[in-house]
Amino acid sequence: MNGGETAHACTHCGRELDAAWKFCVWCGARVIPEERAEAMRAAAAAAAGDAGGRHHAHDEPIERHVNPAAIFALVLGILLSPLAVIFGHLALSQTARTGDRGRMPALIGTVLGYSALVLVVIVVIAWVQLRALL
Ligand SMILES: [Zn+2]
Repeated sequence: MNGGETAHACTHCGRELDAAWKFCVWCGARVIPEERAEAMRAAAAAAAGDAGGRHHAHDEPIERHVNPAAIFALVLGILLSPLAVIFGHLALSQTARTGDRGRMPALIGTVLGYSALVLVVIVVIAWVQLRALL
């Protein structure tokens, strides 16, 4: 203990300062009171820790929100792909019987309907499997 006033060090050059000095005599930097420097360091550390914590929380796969549009698309695909298949087959049989034009769009609609149906089945199976694994 030598007076208790020698704890101040320049934040710029680190040399010992007199408590009364407003500027460092060694390097000319402004002297920041120790309490304030401490508060600034604490704030910086808190900010860094907070940002890190938020980043970490974002990485955790717990309670991940399911996009409602994805559910809607899945439901729509399940509901509409059988309709595409039904109307496709209906159109194919009608165009074959009546000789109307539209065989190609009917065929495309049917194929797309079946593709969507298969895709939906694959997605549902994959989803159930993933849910079982997690
Ligand atoms: Zn200095």
